[in-house]
Amino acid sequence: MVARTDLATDPGLQGELLQARPGTAFFARKLNELTDQELDSGSLLPGWTRRHVVAHVGYNARAIARLVEWAGTGVETPMYPSTGVRDHEINFGATMSPIALRNLFDHSAVHLSVEWRDLPDRDWANEVKTVQGRTVPASETVWMRTREVWIHAVDLNNGATFADVPAPVLERLLRDVTGSWKTRGTDTGLLIKVNGTELAGTDLTFGDSSAPDPTIITGPLPAVVEWATGRGTSGVTAACGTEMLSGIPAAPKWI
Ligand code: ZN
Repeated sequence: MVARTDLATDPGLQGELLQARPGTAFFARKLNELTDQELDSGSLLPGWTRRHVVAHVGYNARAIARLVEWAGTGVETPMYPSTGVRDHEINFGATMSPIALRNLFDHSAVHLSVEWRDLPDRDWANEVKTVQGRTVPASETVWMRTREVWIHAVDLNNGATFADVPAPVLERLLRDVTGSWKTRGTDTGLLIKVNGTELAGTDLTFGDSSAPDPTIITGPLPAVVEWATGRGTSGVTAACGTEMLSGIPAAPKWI
């Protein structure tokens, strides 16, 4: 029997699914605003046209759907055989006709949504492996996808900004990014302060809180996330003690 609604009954998970689907819809809207010809222009990602972004987002949905299938069947199906294969797939995808690219995005998004819908409660905790080799429960795939569609909608470079991304998504993203710096030890001497957020109502602080004389990056949540993900520096300031810095240092890499 085919389910008409999500089989997952966990309220937290249902909430996350509710966050992923508007992200997909938002990406679809930005993509639809682009003419076929405009797909040839540059994205915010170095060396990638918009075509590359669309191909990547489409293949990413397929890759994440493989993880959900793995969780449901117990048969190991990795996201990609290797990162080389993934990159090759993106480069190939970028050469497809505009209609084929748009279909890739649409069909892969629907397929993933169906895989999520039909995964029963008992299988969401089953472990799968990300392309970076992290072992995660299947439920993590929802966040993995959410993050992708929102960020890459901005990368399409036709008007979407981090201010369009819901605050809970931005905050979780910032935790991911700063957590990755911490794991790699690349946040030494760097303190990030987010001005009072909708969520917390107070300032949020990330990074190296033990540094005696840190470089402090400050701004509203969308601006800080834009900076932290390497997408721009508008709206953030940098200071050392009480001294404002004239240049904003680049954020450490996070992926
Ligand atoms: Zn991506």
